[in-house]
Amino acid sequence: MTPSQIVKFLDQHVVGQDEAKRQLAVAVYTHYRKIELATPDKVEVVKSNVLLIGPTGTGKTLLCETLSRVLEVPFVTANATSLGQSEYVNDEIEAILQRLIDKAEGDIGRAQRGIVFIDEIDKLKALGSVPGQARGTSGEGVQHALLKIMEGAPVKIKDARYIDTTNVLFICGGAFVGIEDILTRTHSFGFISTSEDDNQKLLDRLNTRVKPTDLFEYGLIQEFAGRLPIVATLKPLSREMMIRIMTEPENAIYKQYCQILQLDGVELSIEPLVFEQIADLAMEYKVGARSLRGIFEEMLTPVIFLVPDHPEVHQVRITSLFENPRFIGTRTPAV
Ligand code: ADP
Repeated sequence: MTPSQIVKFLDQHVVGQDEAKRQLAVAVYTHYRKIELATPDKVEVVKSNVLLIGPTGTGKTLLCETLSRVLEVPFVTANATSLGQSEYVNDEIEAILQRLIDKAEGDIGRAQRGIVFIDEIDKLKALGSVPGQARGTSGEGVQHALLKIMEGAPVKIKDARYIDTTNVLFICGGAFVGIEDILTRTHSFGFISTSEDDNQKLLDRLNTRVKPTDLFEYGLIQEFAGRLPIVATLKPLSREMMIRIMTEPENAIYKQYCQILQLDGVELSIEPLVFEQIADLAMEYKVGARSLRGIFEEMLTPVIFLVPDHPEVHQVRITSLFENPRFIGTRTPAV
């Protein structure tokens, strides 16, 4: 698949984040091309792992997972913070690779071309800084352990078998709160803009120029930051993006509920105002699109509760998040 085809596929599942989609598409395209070109006598895969910077709940994991689906490669996620909470970080890493093999249904060859997403890479600084902490590995310790597999190494797993991580693509993610400030400080140009739109454009330009040194403040060591040459940034979700997330992607939450109710012969109709109200609430919760499902589920609980017992209902209409749903049919049940 070409990068543009990859982006097209991503577009069906992930709303917005166009710049990150392009960067990721090019990164994986190049990555798998390099693997294809490498011959046994000329193994020269210089791997470019990727760093995804963006607030929580904006689609980092979703992007990686969708990528793995389009490329038909196994995919696992891991969390840098929990790696650091273990005394035996190497065992934890081994367990991640074991999961990758499980995802590949035991096919080590396939697992060796998989994708590993490591989240919360920006939280490593806090690790090991607790005085007297008896357990756990320092942030630096975690990075050294990760570096080894990111660079490519044979790792012993169960049954005396080995997995070679040379061709595994590692994508690291983190919110990197405050990185804009670091960028404006470390670049020669500052903010000189008039509108929010201009601000965003400038911010995007700056963000694409994240340098390894900008990451030191988050506890990343030089070698580790240097191993993440491709930096893609995701934007905070706007209210409009929230609305699109509920309705547009192939398995958008609205479509999912429509299907569930269809099984009971009921048509679900939710008015535009409701999506706006849900988006407003989600914006307040500040966890990106993560809160949408909860709000949606809560809103539809009375509907899912009543509908199966009322075959006479054939339509449910929701006009406001703060009003009871309307049941339409030959007889309407009391909510
Ligand atoms: P994070 O950036 O923290 O990794 P996730 O990718 O796990 O966030 O997203 C959390 C939830 O929100 C998922 O259910 C995902 O489907 C949804 N979501 C987040 N961002 C988007 C987006 N841009 N498009 C579609 N769904 C999204």
